[in-house]
Amino acid sequence: MAGKSKSKTPSAGLWKREQGWDKLKAGEEKALEKYCAEYREFLSQAKTERLTHDFLVKRAIEAGFEELEKAIGGGRKLKAGAKVYRSYGDKTLMLIRVGKAPLTEGMNLVGGHSDCPRLDAKPYPLYQEDDLLLLDTHYYGGIRKYQWVAMPLALFGVVILRNGKKVNISIGDQPDDPVFVITDLLPHLDTEAGKKTLADGINGEALNVLVGSRPVDKKEDDKDCKDKTKLRILRLLKETYGIEEEDFFSAELELVPAGAARELGLDRSMILGYGHDDRVCAYSGARALLDSTGIPYRTQVALICDKEEIGSYGATGMDSTFLENTVAELLEACGEYRGLDLRRALERSKMLSADVTALHDPGFASVSSPNNMSRINCGLAVTKYTGSRGKAGASDASAEFASEVRKIFNDANVVWQSCELGKVDVGGGGTISHYMARYGMDVIDCGVGLFSMHAPWEVAGKLDIYMAWKGYKAFLENKFLVK
Ligand code: MN
Ligand code: MN
Repeated sequence: MAGKSKSKTPSAGLWKREQGWDKLKAGEEKALEKYCAEYREFLSQAKTERLTHDFLVKRAIEAGFEELEKAIGGGRKLKAGAKVYRSYGDKTLMLIRVGKAPLTEGMNLVGGHSDCPRLDAKPYPLYQEDDLLLLDTHYYGGIRKYQWVAMPLALFGVVILRNGKKVNISIGDQPDDPVFVITDLLPHLDTEAGKKTLADGINGEALNVLVGSRPVDKKEDDKDCKDKTKLRILRLLKETYGIEEEDFFSAELELVPAGAARELGLDRSMILGYGHDDRVCAYSGARALLDSTGIPYRTQVALICDKEEIGSYGATGMDSTFLENTVAELLEACGEYRGLDLRRALERSKMLSADVTALHDPGFASVSSPNNMSRINCGLAVTKYTGSRGKAGASDASAEFASEVRKIFNDANVVWQSCELGKVDVGGGGTISHYMARYGMDVIDCGVGLFSMHAPWEVAGKLDIYMAWKGYKAFLENKFLVK
């Protein structure tokens, strides 16, 4: 199902899905490898939504972007070619390149999410059992819990101290750092436990992370304290970070797989990493915008949002009005704002909801719809609808918009494929697309296919990753001239 170049005569009717390596232009394989190496570095460094935000803001500033509020300070206006960004809660981010056309003609948006499934520390996380100090977690997003035990975990996040000081935590990804783990049962003793289903084998309350085992030294002992391992670690936290136990209430601490993203396979044709969903699309959308040159015709927006994995609620999720608020600010700064203009700008926008999808996995063929699932390295996966069991909850893209998107990709030699999530009755999923469709804008899901989605280590094909960047860039740069 690869895109056909406009210069070629269409074949006699067979629309074949095949690997895209042979379709690369001269020199493109080198560009693909360079892009994937840069993506791998990003994926290894930016393991949380805050770190993704900070990484991309740094890149934007290096590319000459200015914070929106500063750029319009003192009533300054924005002109075509202006490059600005807006942050929300240090998590959600909008990168914007102002175009020549009035905003009321609509914008081109590519939007992905930077939050990934993980284990969050509870607000009262530390407790001792025997001499062991454990950290209690509440999982974030849909996970298969048995996958998260007996593997090294790293801890990232922020803690706000009593005095208001924000402390950044990053433990487990440097070579000399300690790591953490959830212990698992040995097979020698699993005669009964081994009969449980995968869903029951490890439940949510069993996701307790081992963080210490050594009680305080006798000479430092506090006779009244029974939890001597906890006491040692609380003293260590106070000494190292100034953290007291109550500060865990004003913290966001995430346990994620420790270690860097790696090239996968003897042929190095894939990448194994934590959080491809959806940092592969969020990064590719941001890079597509940052790599665009010249003054665009339509205003371009790369949206990197939070909270998708738990339903997009909250001030930093797509259910919030930050997009509307920011577009209102832009209209005002471009000298155009009236209430109706905001409605028009949003309604006439076009969007790629940039999120991952499932690859056809021969190991799990029973849940697959082979002709309608994406295949690895067959290109950017375009999904007309998500939802589940009868398209419930889907934002079903129109034939007209599907036709526009197909033409953009074919004209730009983007290798792409059509897909849906799996067999119709077995499950499903959603993305941010319906939050955008609410404004009346055209939106279609479009991203990278994965193996092991939501597992600690997910698999993506390099060709698909590169084609996401290429496709998003072609879309952002399209004029969508009003007929
Ligand atoms: Mn996703
Ligand atoms: Mn997901």
